[in-house]
Amino acid sequence: MTSLPVAAEISTELRDDLHELYRGLHAAPELSMQEHRTAALIEQRMSALGWETTIVGGTGVAAVLRNGEGPVVGFRADTDALPLREDTGLAYASTATGTLPDGTAVPVMHACGHDFHVTSAIGAATLLTADRGSWAGTVVLVFQPGEETSEGAAAMVADGLWDRVPRPEVVFGQHVWPGRTGTVDVRPGPAMAMADSWKVTVRGRGGHGSQPENTIDPVVLAAHMVVRIQSIVSREVNPQRAAVVTIASFHAGLKENIIPASAEFTVNVRNLDAGVREKVLAALRRVITAEAQASGAPDPTIEELYTFPLLYNDPDATERLTAALSDALGPDKVIEAAPRMGSEDFGHLPEAIGVPGVYWFFGGMPDEVIDGTEPVPTNHSPHFAPVIEPTLTTGITAAHAAIMSRVRR
Ligand SMILES: [Zn+2]
Ligand SMILES: [Zn+2]
Repeated sequence: MTSLPVAAEISTELRDDLHELYRGLHAAPELSMQEHRTAALIEQRMSALGWETTIVGGTGVAAVLRNGEGPVVGFRADTDALPLREDTGLAYASTATGTLPDGTAVPVMHACGHDFHVTSAIGAATLLTADRGSWAGTVVLVFQPGEETSEGAAAMVADGLWDRVPRPEVVFGQHVWPGRTGTVDVRPGPAMAMADSWKVTVRGRGGHGSQPENTIDPVVLAAHMVVRIQSIVSREVNPQRAAVVTIASFHAGLKENIIPASAEFTVNVRNLDAGVREKVLAALRRVITAEAQASGAPDPTIEELYTFPLLYNDPDATERLTAALSDALGPDKVIEAAPRMGSEDFGHLPEAIGVPGVYWFFGGMPDEVIDGTEPVPTNHSPHFAPVIEPTLTTGITAAHAAIMSRVRR
């Protein structure tokens, strides 16, 4: 006998209300660490539900509902958007603009779907509030800013998050992605890669394009670095281990007959374990330094831009969570996926207090997109447009089921 899903009922009235909330968030995205209106809206919604709210880490919101003796459970939803011009053609598409920290004016879009995360968390909170008789304990919702720049989780922890709210025994989180809508996927162990981004400034000696003998050409030098760096993963990393090294920006010079004095590139490294990471980063430094020496150039400057921690799903907590998701959504909707080489700063939140964390993905694409012939738009694409249903219901149900699996009477 197959058991039917035991998801909480979401009334038509609540669903309509959450759809409106979602479309409003989607149309009004804000850049990382500038989520002021989003934070105000979250505070207002959560206070109206009777939750205690606290601003933490600038534009983060922690919301707490105490419902008698019992376990404390944490759930995180990230709130920020990306500097991107939306090109989805949706009626509720964003036309918002923002300003990057360097002063550049940019269009802004919820191209990573964090608007689904906020709405799902508020939806789950509404169900928990309405049904206080069926559970006991404390729920802590962490609305985290600045995921895209890896600043937000660290900022909330540094601002005393876990001293200002009850400490949970587990922290959950979820992300919408271009999988089949209605499904979730989760895996124990490493789930998303750790990441390091560096900016490398290569210095040579500038001069006339006709007299290379009087210069140290940083373009040729940096080009050698870029090519040589490609062989780190193919020649130095065990083929059974995962690593990615990508150089996606390279800038030098202004004119064909002026050899510039410097060149600049950024390099992004992804790994699933610390040992491989150390090896790749050491190889990068070695190649960059040695190539400069080979050209008789000064040592290049390496500036560390971002690091993201490994996203590690505690195996026991993941097993419990997977059972809860299967009960709520149906076992055929719960998939175990391979680790992703993308990155997340979610891991800071449970790690800061030494408790397990579990993070899963929920699909946002309808069958016709998944099974069609066109490439499926991914997160960070200007065309990323998850369908509202059943995506939102899945996100709400998963969040609610995860929390209830710890606090149900
Ligand atoms: Zn993203
Ligand atoms: Zn994201």
